Amino acid sequence: PAAAPEAPCLDPFALARALSGAHLIGGRLVPARSGRVFPVVNPATGEAVAEAADGDAADVEAAVSDAARAQKDWAKLPARKRGALVAQAAALIRTHVEELSRLVALETGKALRTESRVEANNVADIFDFFAGLGGEIKGETVPFGPEVLNITVREPLGVVGAIIPWNIPMMLLALKVAPALVAGNSVVVKSAEEAPLAVLRIAELMNRVLPAGVFNLLSGQGPECGAPLVAHKLVKKVTFTGSVETGKLIYKAAAEKLIPVTLELGGKSPMIVFADCDFEKTVQGALTSMRFTRQGQSCTAASRIFVERPIFDRFVEEMAKRVDAMVMGDPLDEKTDIGTIISPGQFEKVKTFIEEGRATAGATGRACSAMPTDAALKKGLFIQPHIFTGLTKESRLVREEIFGPVTCIFPFDEAEAVLAEANDTEFGLAASVWTSNLKIALTFAHRIEAGLVQVNQNLVVQPNLSYGGVKASGLGKEASLESMLEHFTHKKTIMVNMS
Ligand code: NAD
Repeated sequence: PAAAPEAPCLDPFALARALSGAHLIGGRLVPARSGRVFPVVNPATGEAVAEAADGDAADVEAAVSDAARAQKDWAKLPARKRGALVAQAAALIRTHVEELSRLVALETGKALRTESRVEANNVADIFDFFAGLGGEIKGETVPFGPEVLNITVREPLGVVGAIIPWNIPMMLLALKVAPALVAGNSVVVKSAEEAPLAVLRIAELMNRVLPAGVFNLLSGQGPECGAPLVAHKLVKKVTFTGSVETGKLIYKAAAEKLIPVTLELGGKSPMIVFADCDFEKTVQGALTSMRFTRQGQSCTAASRIFVERPIFDRFVEEMAKRVDAMVMGDPLDEKTDIGTIISPGQFEKVKTFIEEGRATAGATGRACSAMPTDAALKKGLFIQPHIFTGLTKESRLVREEIFGPVTCIFPFDEAEAVLAEANDTEFGLAASVWTSNLKIALTFAHRIEAGLVQVNQNLVVQPNLSYGGVKASGLGKEASLESMLEHFTHKKTIMVNMS
């Protein structure tokens, strides 16, 4: 692989080429042991912009053994010193925010202004948050009697395997790597096939500060590179974000080794809108939460919106009007609001859902926002956002995670019935309730089965607040001090008889 540029590089095409064909193992950019690569494609044009190293078990072996070696000395550093090094790496990331924004826009098709820059701006903050928590990794003393001293200490787990998806790759990397490192573990990340570049640049930047081998990053396919990482005997913990299907495979493989896992999986999040809501803020909240700007490729997307009947028609109209006003186009263009779908496979999947919805008797699917007309984008993976009404709860569009720009809106008349409908899903990631009635807001917040319920807002969760799903949406929490302690350390009990 070519050498990564020292200074920030604002030409994402040049940076993509410079990062081509590399894993980051033992502090160095190295090719796959097999020499194999796979193309990284710009979803806005269909053109290959770089190659990524196609990792397999041999690369996993190299990365994990380097990580295991490095972890021994890393764990001996005082936690605050580890935090200080992570903070130094975060500062370096901060100086590269603009190049990272452009690079992630190029490989994922997420619009630069509305999505990619927002993500890139959060990354260093997440590293900084955990970096500051080094001093909080501590134990307790537990009284037993005058002659016994009982203490607990928090110890790192060893090598952590982290597997991430493509939709917010940099943020999800940070939420896993930062707490794992500060807690004294070393990490091997397997990036998503579709988005290997921006996270590789982050790994390369961090490795200028961190001891070699502490943070390694592999690219490759799930079964060939991700599965051997999970199965490796020196990997003592796996943290994963992705689909329910893959999450189950990982959970089973981890069970074979009896190691802990954290799983952040899919969602089908309800948004419940009462007629007494602040209409303006609520429509805006629906747009933010549905993340049409990211083509709906958000795990917490408000993909089922229930609106109290008196304001139902007005709500649907207003939402459609505002999505219509959004500009779909080249993700790297500052004018663009909505970028592309990530991959041809995902594109076909979303199209099938939309066709199925359109063919459903009694249902209406409204296509909003004009398709781009630029000839250079004619092979781009653009799909018009769709707002469906008239679907029933048996529809696949209502039951399954589409992970595309499709939302279903339903009218409701009665609070208890809508609560039952909101909970009638295998998922339990996020939900929101919109009303000026405090009693309803709190009752719903209490009774909705989800890891996160927001009232009158749909904001991105902060690093100091626990985040994670229930039901099929996952296992364990990310973000917050508690998640670092619970998921990246174990508590050792030491009993001392002083008599
Ligand atoms: P995916 O499960 O297909 O892939 C995710 C990662 O797992 C990729 O890196 C992939 O290579 C790897 N992988 C695939 N098979 C594997 C195997 N057998 N062993 C080990 N690793 C394997 O998911 P995706 O389509 O890339 O991502 C979209 C999904 O992620 C959606 O379901 C979405 O809801 C979910 N997601 C959840 C959250 C959350 O916080 N809960 C956040 C973002 C995305």
